[in-house]
Amino acid sequence: MPRPTKPRRICEEPAIKGFAPEDTKLKAEVITMSVDELEAIRLIDIEGISQEECALRMNVARTTAQAIYNSARTKTAKCLVYGYELQISGGNYEVCNGQGGCCACGKTAQ
Ligand SMILES: [Zn+2]
Repeated sequence: MPRPTKPRRICEEPAIKGFAPEDTKLKAEVITMSVDELEAIRLIDIEGISQEECALRMNVARTTAQAIYNSARTKTAKCLVYGYELQISGGNYEVCNGQGGCCACGKTAQ
């Protein structure tokens, strides 16, 4: 049995649950991106932070953050290039509560 991994921290549940290509004839394959993969894309490509900083925010090792990000990028590229449908769901994650040292999203502990 694989070793259980600790949950990856995200700031918020994503508002978007998926995308589909405009050309529905292309809708041959569905790619599932986990919520933690989307968070890595959000942090690195939108917030513009480094992979090291992303690892701290998500509470994972740097190599793990890199692997999550690389996987997310590949999936994104396949959807854009091949017109695959994208679903965003699942993954081993927890939403930050303001106590774990994230918390650049500005949350404070309840
Ligand atoms: Zn946060």
